Amino acid sequence: METQIITINKSDTASSIREKLFQAGKIIRQGGLVAFPTETVYGLGGDALNPDAAQKIYAAKGRPSDNPLIVHISQIDSLDSLVSAIPDKAKKLAKAFWPGPLTMIMNKSDIVPSQTTGGLDTVAVRMPSHPVALEFIKQAGGYVAAPSANLSGKPSPTTAKYVIQDMDGRVDMIIAADDSEEIIGLESTIVDMTSDIPAILRPGYITQAMISREIGATDIDVTIFDADSGKAPKAPGMKYRHYAPRGELVLVEGRPDDVVAYINAQVRFHKERGEKTGVIGTDTLVTKYDADIVKNAGSRDEPVMAASRLYTFLREFDDENVEFMYSESFKNEGLEQAIMNRLLKAAGHKIIKV
Ligand code: AMP
Ligand code: MG
Repeated sequence: METQIITINKSDTASSIREKLFQAGKIIRQGGLVAFPTETVYGLGGDALNPDAAQKIYAAKGRPSDNPLIVHISQIDSLDSLVSAIPDKAKKLAKAFWPGPLTMIMNKSDIVPSQTTGGLDTVAVRMPSHPVALEFIKQAGGYVAAPSANLSGKPSPTTAKYVIQDMDGRVDMIIAADDSEEIIGLESTIVDMTSDIPAILRPGYITQAMISREIGATDIDVTIFDADSGKAPKAPGMKYRHYAPRGELVLVEGRPDDVVAYINAQVRFHKERGEKTGVIGTDTLVTKYDADIVKNAGSRDEPVMAASRLYTFLREFDDENVEFMYSESFKNEGLEQAIMNRLLKAAGHKIIKV
């Protein structure tokens, strides 16, 4: 398949963006696939109400079809037709966080095909805030089902370069956005709104504390951090080894000096064997690491930086054929909880406490 690549720049006006995205919307309305930017990661979109489109998405990603897709909308009102009822708490969260990086799961209506929801009776819905995403969804008819635009098992793409690497030849069009645009860099927070006390199934930029401030008590799915809980994650996609780089990643937790000493000892060991190493560290420690490639995740006081860079670091380690990677670990709260969740998955839950 020939993939058309269009670019949206900072210099584009609202009307030139509209014009460029008309074509993209038409592809979706005719049953095709378009990769598009959002404020979290790039999405791989198809018409959410067309069962064939969902199948095409699974095929393009190489994703198992029991893994449901998130339906993206461009206006809050569109939620009405996707779900059988909107719980009051969902209304509150939509008002507080949409458009934005929050996905809510509710009981689906009949217009949502089971192919889109991986056979579930529930549907995941999000209204993104990225202006290109909003205009594209509107042009596409208002309901775009989209997982992240990476091949299954690879880190989610946060720049057009990696979307093209994974999806060129597999989709009809890729919308490339200006890379200088501020992005969050981690997938949306997912909250299951079908129980009285809503539960976070995937942590993200919108934290448990932010959600609880709006609606009171919220639970968090235990499988997010405990690989040995013996339970199946409620978000089917969370069971797969996602976000993984090709090499082996290990997280290291402990006092800063001990973390540096441990990582440098490992790096020495690999270097003697001629193996290439990489480290992800925070700004006060990065100069201390002896690895071949050291990535600076920024300050611990501003985890937004680490969040927005994480997937690019993992992709770059792949590009550089790094074989052994070590990362400092992060706290289990706030945005750091989301970073830690993705790191743990990328590391296959390998964490060393020093
Ligand atoms: P991605 O689109 O790559 O960000 O992945 C979407 C995530 O949302 C996966 O982990 C899915 O399992 C999860 N998800 C989507 N729909 C549902 C649903 N109805 N119930 C539970 N999890 C869902
Ligand atoms: Mg994904």
